[in-house]
Amino acid sequence: MARCNNCNKFVLLEDPYAEDINHCDIAIDDGFVEIAPKVVLYCSECGLEIKELTFEYEESHKCPICGEDHLDQLSLSRASVEGFEDFDFNGKKGNKLKNPIKYWGVDIYYTIACNKCKNSLNYEVSLKELPKNFDDC
Ligand SMILES: [Zn+2]
Ligand SMILES: [Zn+2]
Repeated sequence: MARCNNCNKFVLLEDPYAEDINHCDIAIDDGFVEIAPKVVLYCSECGLEIKELTFEYEESHKCPICGEDHLDQLSLSRASVEGFEDFDFNGKKGNKLKNPIKYWGVDIYYTIACNKCKNSLNYEVSLKELPKNFDDC
């Protein structure tokens, strides 16, 4: 639940769709990857943008074939977002009978290429955030 200034009441937030990752910064420098997909949540009644969060992912890679860390080609093949419910989110227990913990998760698929052996490396990562970590728009 969140307050919608347009509807003037507390409303449910609509689950985000893949296209709600409307902005995603990517960068790579000597094998150090930074990916920051932004997710927006909407009012389920009028569609107003209510909450937003930029997820953050950082990882350092070496080429597993030749050990080279001068990797500087990064491409994002797919990013998707979904709303989930779980009874145990990172050890924080929900009530098994009626109150699962709601969170939003982003799946990112990316490819980096090694400058030395030209090998392509594919990675998949899932990021999760609780609704309370989202900011008001
Ligand atoms: Zn609304
Ligand atoms: Zn290599």
